[in-house]
Amino acid sequence: MTEYLNQLNAAQREAVETTEGPVLVLAGAGTGKTRVLTTRFAHILLSGRAYPNQILAVTFTNKASKEMSERIASLIQQPVEGLWLGSFHKICAKMLRINAHLVGLTSNFTILDTDDQLRLLKQIIPAYPIDTKTTPPQLILGIIQSWKDKGYSFGNLSASEKANPEKAIIQEIYRAYQTRLQQLNACDFGDLMLHVFNIFNQYPDVLQKYQRYFKYILVDEYQDTNIIQYLWLRMLAQRSGETSNICCVGDDDQSIYSWRGAEIENILRFEKDFPEAKVIRLEENYRSTQNILGAASELIDNNSQRLGKTLQAANKNLQNDKVQVSSLWDSDEESRLICDQIIGLQKEGHHFGDMAILMRTGSQTRPFEERMITLGLPYKIIGGLRFYERAEIRDAIAYMRIVAQPNDNLALERIINVPRRGVGKVALQKIHETSRELDVPLLQAIDYLLINNLLKGKIYTELTQLMNLLDQTRKKVEAEGHISAIDYLLNACGYIDMWKQDKSPEAAGRLENIKELFQATAEFPTLVEFLEHISLIMDNDDLSGDDKINLMTLHAAKGLEFNIVFLPGWEEGLFPSQRTMDESGNNGLEEERRLAYVGITRAKQRLFISHAANRQIYGQWQSSVPSRFIEELSDTYTKKISHIKQSQNRSSRKNDFFDSYSSPKFSKQPAQGASLSQPQRTYTPPKNKNIPVGSRVFHQKFGHGTVLNTENNKLEVDFDKSDIKHVIDSFVTLES
Ligand code: ATP
Ligand code: MG
Repeated sequence: MTEYLNQLNAAQREAVETTEGPVLVLAGAGTGKTRVLTTRFAHILLSGRAYPNQILAVTFTNKASKEMSERIASLIQQPVEGLWLGSFHKICAKMLRINAHLVGLTSNFTILDTDDQLRLLKQIIPAYPIDTKTTPPQLILGIIQSWKDKGYSFGNLSASEKANPEKAIIQEIYRAYQTRLQQLNACDFGDLMLHVFNIFNQYPDVLQKYQRYFKYILVDEYQDTNIIQYLWLRMLAQRSGETSNICCVGDDDQSIYSWRGAEIENILRFEKDFPEAKVIRLEENYRSTQNILGAASELIDNNSQRLGKTLQAANKNLQNDKVQVSSLWDSDEESRLICDQIIGLQKEGHHFGDMAILMRTGSQTRPFEERMITLGLPYKIIGGLRFYERAEIRDAIAYMRIVAQPNDNLALERIINVPRRGVGKVALQKIHETSRELDVPLLQAIDYLLINNLLKGKIYTELTQLMNLLDQTRKKVEAEGHISAIDYLLNACGYIDMWKQDKSPEAAGRLENIKELFQATAEFPTLVEFLEHISLIMDNDDLSGDDKINLMTLHAAKGLEFNIVFLPGWEEGLFPSQRTMDESGNNGLEEERRLAYVGITRAKQRLFISHAANRQIYGQWQSSVPSRFIEELSDTYTKKISHIKQSQNRSSRKNDFFDSYSSPKFSKQPAQGASLSQPQRTYTPPKNKNIPVGSRVFHQKFGHGTVLNTENNKLEVDFDKSDIKHVIDSFVTLES
């Protein structure tokens, strides 16, 4: 029965078996912290200490939640439901749905995304004396969010915040913003925690209910909790007259969310707040080879703010390739090399799904996506937003939101004229005015205007039709379920037709995306649950288990592991990010280094790091030097290879082009490998060449074509073997 305990080492086992009282597991990457939590969950159940729903488990990724629930299901031999298992936000959303009335919401409240938040804020800001040139809405939103992360409602800001005149204005905006949210029966991401936190403070009976309910609390990635999350956990754990059975696992070297208010000090606070806490350290790493671990340790050793720990490879017999560090001429060559390596590894028998490319910023995926599309390599982007950010998906979701919640004004505003219904600025203003005068949501205002014949012509017919459709859809949801109801709505309102008739190249893809969306909807029993999932997807990961190469940011990769990992773009300014260093100085640099440590330690068998001497940023070529993190890795664990000479020979066509139109300055070729310590800074990208409209050009990827139009360094080219595309002039050669 306790066979699962045999799969642990002694320290892990102690962490699992110490079920009563507070436990803190502090340990490096890959030492089995998440495994400890999963096993602990199972152990508590199997030893009869609690029922599944009496355990609160906060995990960082969906993968971890999924693993835990699968493990539990296999141990108790039946599917488990109703678990309190998920991210902080997910758990708080669940609690808030139950207690919404205590903060003046109803349980079907909407969760706004950043886009909605900004739109709302922009409506509020003009009424306040604040200069949006120096203090843009994004900044104001960031400040409000940081207050929420500290547990501040607009009434209880700290004295120092109140004393600052600009902050005092933002505080007023905060107040107005919250009032608007309340009217919309909505809340933003930060509110999910803050509302529940306030409920716990104001309604001790509610808090006590949860305290009694959750006999055991488990927290993964504890180093990345922010203040409000910490306070929330502490409230739940400090049960009067009972032991605090809270187990947190974390790694100070992997703290990468301080920019979102995470506080590494929470580790120290824990020991202070729970003086009887047992602190357990794990030192054996079961994930990575010795070389990967060696490189990780060498790198993180450069940080001064560390609690300090050592990592040993548990299995020293693994095939132990050195970490490969490659220098490339430019970012295109980098994606080319990585894709070639991926193909090679797949031929050796590795699966695409076991490979990951981890990047500093989301926008770095583009060259890889393009290359993979060209080569037909299967890939997926993990980290959410991309799919759900697309216009057609947001439109479709806005339609769903209005069906689920008729007073969702923001959603209505998004779709009222999509497809075109002749609702222009004037009509919209009229609807807004009526809504204000009658103090009703926009949809009711439209109803009022229609009934009283205050809208005319096309608008009248179109909006009447829309209102009828929404009514019918709501009935259909009841009668036939949400999937066929939404399908009906999007077809009947002309939305699907709008894209069918659209001649742009993306239209077909958009229709596919909508199909994909229906697929996603079908996985949820109700519309409200689906919409909640969408709101939470931001910090989610794609779980579709297909055999695809995984692309994601380093932040999204936390807690995950892959056999083969590629870490491209290790260049000064990009990684470490210049912005982080400018904003937070040495602390910023150390956080970037921790991010690099997270990246390295995701790899189980093979690790490939790379940097390019030239990178295109917003269409402009910029030269760059290798990241200082590369220099921090010694030859003991890494093998450095320069591909630069080779690649320049290959791009000789570019050379000819440069030579004939300007005098680009190529320096002498560096010796193999020398570029790592002597970065090339002398490549001057060509300035806009005078390519006349009508010229014949050759593009490396799209072939021959005719220039239709030029604008700065962009060309519109009708390619013979493809369609019309926009390309950057430095990528084409003029044909004589
Ligand atoms: P991270 O800090 O990256 O989140 P972690 O400490 O949570 O890492 P896990 O993901 O739990 O580490 O474990 C890393 C890998 O090692 C997993 O594949 C896990 O199954 C394996 N592992 C952990 N403990 C053991 C053990 N005692 N025996 C064999 N394999 C183990
Ligand atoms: Mg983990």
